[in-house]
Amino acid sequence: MRVNGIGVSPGIVIGKAHWLKRQRALLTGIVLQNDSDIATEIEKFNKAVSLSVAEVELMIGHSDAASDKEGLAIMETHIVLLTDPQISEDVIEKISQEKKNVNDAVIEVILNAVELFKSMNDEYLSARAADVQDIGDRLLKNLNPHSHSSTQQYPPDTIIIADDLTPSDTISMDVTRVIGFATQVGGGTSHAAIIARSKGIPAITGCGHELINIKDGDLLILDGQSGDIIINPDETVIEQYHVRRADWLAQNSQLHSLKNTPASTTDGINIKLFANIGNAVDMEQAIGFGAEGSGLLRTELLFMGRDALPTEQEQFEFYKAVVLKAKDKPVILRTLDIGGDKQLPYFNFPAEQNPFLGYRAIRICLNRPDIFITQLKAILRASVFGQLKIMFPMISGIEEVRAAKVILQQAKDELTTTGIAFDKNIPVGIMIEIPSAAITADMLAKEVDFFSIGTNDLCQYTLAVDRMNEQIKNLYDPYNPGVLRLIAYVIEQGHKNNIEVGMCGELASDPKATLLLMGMGLTEFSMSAAAIPQIKNIIVNNSLSAAKKIQQRVMKMDSSHIITAYLQEVTQ
Ligand code: PEP
Ligand code: MG
Repeated sequence: MRVNGIGVSPGIVIGKAHWLKRQRALLTGIVLQNDSDIATEIEKFNKAVSLSVAEVELMIGHSDAASDKEGLAIMETHIVLLTDPQISEDVIEKISQEKKNVNDAVIEVILNAVELFKSMNDEYLSARAADVQDIGDRLLKNLNPHSHSSTQQYPPDTIIIADDLTPSDTISMDVTRVIGFATQVGGGTSHAAIIARSKGIPAITGCGHELINIKDGDLLILDGQSGDIIINPDETVIEQYHVRRADWLAQNSQLHSLKNTPASTTDGINIKLFANIGNAVDMEQAIGFGAEGSGLLRTELLFMGRDALPTEQEQFEFYKAVVLKAKDKPVILRTLDIGGDKQLPYFNFPAEQNPFLGYRAIRICLNRPDIFITQLKAILRASVFGQLKIMFPMISGIEEVRAAKVILQQAKDELTTTGIAFDKNIPVGIMIEIPSAAITADMLAKEVDFFSIGTNDLCQYTLAVDRMNEQIKNLYDPYNPGVLRLIAYVIEQGHKNNIEVGMCGELASDPKATLLLMGMGLTEFSMSAAAIPQIKNIIVNNSLSAAKKIQQRVMKMDSSHIITAYLQEVTQ
């Protein structure tokens, strides 16, 4: 049997399935003190219900009504249970009368309901206890989104199966044991997918409800390129895939032999290939793949998977370790980009209707100068150990750049007063990932030393397509002429104003895009380290003049389908 999703990290692996179960939430015993706490807890409950219903509806939307009648019926039952007035009345009563916090109220109500169903004499009804438990788990998961049990030890050759993975789940995967993963939800630029690519683990997201056909211990073939999972294949299929896997590994090692070859076109133009990294180990691995530095250190990864904000000293040591591993190669260190799908368990994010349009990244840093200045001081202190550059994320306009630079100056002044050394000329750049920034690139270029184009967010904001929502994944298309025009304009304006322009969004690692972006004048590409050899292979086998012709043709095309088909054809 096969299940299909979005192949988000290429490679073929054969291993045993293991469902990532969330830890059951425990009773906390916290008693509510005042009326406003009661209102907050009820609001949290209502939000968890809506989120849970939306998740199940999404799964229904993915099911094939003809072949999966049973699965559909179960999901529909779950909607009925989630919206059951009795359950919600009981929870609200426990919160408002018994002053229980929402977590405890849900645990108790679900436990009672499970016991009630189990005690019924009717076989069908008593089996519904599992469904009640399931919706209870879903509600608790949505009340406590950070309660994954991801630090568990897995046997070798484990393929993780999960309804969803947070970026921190993916970060904490031990790649010596976990060889791949597949999830029900998520798209190609979710952070779990990005981290999978940088770890080189084949991965598939957006498999939908079908994934429940996989049981713990099933033998799986997972093809992270095609998005196919084959469940308990027969010997012949296993043999075929062993051959494919061997081909894939051979191709990888052939590309790897380009490691020390410069990324120069056949007409002698040098392109810089950098890696997107999360820590010093990634930096070291990236150099192994031939990276000439890092075009994006996602510092928020240091802030995730822990209980409290890292101190200035901890951050300093972390950044210094990265810079030392880079060995004088440049490292662009992006300041904290939390919010959206990157939540911190210890940071009180407000409940938001649209987190990707909400309180995130530079918006948080400007609002919390205490957090921002601590990070900036740590970065500045690390800057004497190598070639560091600072980059601000999610810039929407010039005021934010100026405000961020004021805080940077304060950090510099504080270090100067205490006699601590730092690179006084540290370059300062911004991510161009919001359409307003791209459209005003001519103005922003006068404020900074470099741009880095973040196509992941630029695409989602330009097209109004949530990058995490696999239901609309077909609309998430960086080859949309609107997105391409913005990218071309940013590169053009960067060059006109004599500042460096790079790209650190996922488009930089898409082989189809390489010649087009080179033709636009892009000379710095930053990507997951594992993608570097393939992109270098394209660069060394093509000329800039050919790339320019390709770009001119593409910019006249009005449809992304035509553009991608053409780029596919011209990319060898
Ligand atoms: C981007 O948006 O393209 C980007 C590189 O940032 P992130 O994926 O971390 O949001
Ligand atoms: Mg971004």
